[in-house]
Amino acid sequence: MSIKSILSHVFGYPSFRGPQQDIIEHMVAGGDALVLMPTGGGKSLCYQIPAIARQQAGHGITVVISPLIALMHDQVGALHEAGVQAEFLNSTLSWQAASKVEQRLQQGDITLLYAAPERVTTPRFLEQLDALQAGGRLSLFAIDEAHCVSQWGHDFRPEYRALTVLHQRYPGVPRIALTATADALTRADIVNCLELQHARLFISSFDRPNIRYTIVEKREASQQLLRFIQNEHLGDAGVVYCQSRKKVEETADLLCDHGIAALPYHAGLEAKVRQTHQDQFLRMEGIVMVATIAFGMGIDKPDVRFVAHLDMPKNIEGYYQETGRAGRDGEPADAWLCYGLQDVVNQRRMIDDPESGASMEHRQLMRGKLEALLGLAEATDCRRVRLLHYFGEASQPCGNCDNCLQAPAVWDATDAARKLLSCVYRVRQMSGFGFGAGHIIDILRGKLTDKVTQRGHERISTFGIGADLSEAQWRSVVRQLLAIDALEVDAQAFNTLQLTAASRTVLKGDVPVLLRAALPKTTGRKTQQRPEKAAPKAQAALNAAEQARFAALKAWRFEVAKEHNLPAYVIFHDATLAAIAHSAPQSLDDLQGISGIGARKLDAYGAAVLAVLAGL
Ligand code: ADP
Ligand code: ZN
Repeated sequence: MSIKSILSHVFGYPSFRGPQQDIIEHMVAGGDALVLMPTGGGKSLCYQIPAIARQQAGHGITVVISPLIALMHDQVGALHEAGVQAEFLNSTLSWQAASKVEQRLQQGDITLLYAAPERVTTPRFLEQLDALQAGGRLSLFAIDEAHCVSQWGHDFRPEYRALTVLHQRYPGVPRIALTATADALTRADIVNCLELQHARLFISSFDRPNIRYTIVEKREASQQLLRFIQNEHLGDAGVVYCQSRKKVEETADLLCDHGIAALPYHAGLEAKVRQTHQDQFLRMEGIVMVATIAFGMGIDKPDVRFVAHLDMPKNIEGYYQETGRAGRDGEPADAWLCYGLQDVVNQRRMIDDPESGASMEHRQLMRGKLEALLGLAEATDCRRVRLLHYFGEASQPCGNCDNCLQAPAVWDATDAARKLLSCVYRVRQMSGFGFGAGHIIDILRGKLTDKVTQRGHERISTFGIGADLSEAQWRSVVRQLLAIDALEVDAQAFNTLQLTAASRTVLKGDVPVLLRAALPKTTGRKTQQRPEKAAPKAQAALNAAEQARFAALKAWRFEVAKEHNLPAYVIFHDATLAAIAHSAPQSLDDLQGISGIGARKLDAYGAAVLAVLAGL
């Protein structure tokens, strides 16, 4: 079968997306590839279709290396639904079940075999591969989530490093490495560690146009989150990221108290509880997962309508990966981040923590990455332009981020910045050591606190010269100066502020400092003034009769998914059900050709779908 007919016959899709066709042709021809494509871009087909095509051509089986043991069952289940022979080998299988898979492997019954990296590199597994190789039946290696190989990345897995053995042991077998992490450093690491110097590089645009980016100033974070969900995402599936386990628990409780179906997920929960919560999130509708970053890699739930951050992520790569889990189905979705000065201070403390054992080089790198993220958070221009620029992509203002939708009020803070820097300087000069942001702001605002009077800081020339600005405004000046590296937090010395090499240019007035105007205290102004959220496309376009069909189809799908122990979207996506509801097919012929219905699904479910429609 041609790759085009595999696409339509097996997966039920009419056309390739973006660079899929080039990548697939390259792999079918036996090339090596490194594929950088954003989440939701359609990476899986880039190895699944070559696997099918190459097996049909007599090349044997494709081994997929995936770090996600907890998800392999669903990944393989989705292939079964499409009628593809796929299996997985991991620690969740009984010894008997594993031997059975191994047996089928040697019989050539399997098209795709999913395995975790620690399994792939065991002598037992390599012997199996040797046997396949000897018979000319080892077709392809697909290394998914390839950024796990990089220790600069956020998901470093030491086992990934050992995967070089595949290349060394089976040099003639083509390899495809795939990731949604785009930065140059991680990419170089993947190439080096996996010896992919000669592989063809496929880089897609990293834009996710359906995701709306919003970054708000932190006031009472959990109340802000609650308002955000209540106003814009009631009943939607979403993910809320928090930094600590404690905050995960508290936030999940708070949401539940307000009638929002939320579940906690963090590394401190028992593996079994984590798995149950993940399953519920994947299998039920409208669940909000409140989690640490331990959650989310490889989650391919297509209808996550928002990703919220209650704390600042570590860097732009992390932010991009985490927010990328929203809207994989291409329908409108929100990425919402709430951040404040304390986040910056905490991050700096973690980076500079002497206990962490990180090298100077590593710390410097992390600081640079934090600054880039701060720059994004403090930006007054298009967020997407900045985000894409970070990944080396040029773009135009997007019209779908907070700053584009409502240009933030900006004030000239050049003068204030100079006052602040000179205050930091003078305090340090007088006392011989530095102070934190709170104290510096008290001095600027002329507050006679105990700490001020004990230190005699009311005698400093900058005392009271900033009484015209609120504390919130001063905090925003501090954040902005941190973002442009004109000020530093010394995490080794009680988070005190200190000047940097770049402070001088600001002090001299050479660089204008333009700041987002701080919002008046109590409001959720942003949320209220935002344009109405667009309802998801597929369903919104349906009239009343179509809505009724859609609802009936969803109810039917729920039962089938339960019976097969798979998430509903593995049976059919919402978009496919909406298309069925819209076209009201009368026959199997009518059904065929609707996107998402391949031959196998037509066979398995066509009659049942028609019966559901006929029963209305
Ligand atoms: P990634 O792994 O890059 O995040 P997936 O491979 O999970 O993305 O694909 C994202 C979604 O897009 C899936 O639901 C998949 O079925 C769908 N998809 C992929 N390629 C196509 C295509 N050519 N046409 C229609 N849908 C596609
Ligand atoms: Zn924009």
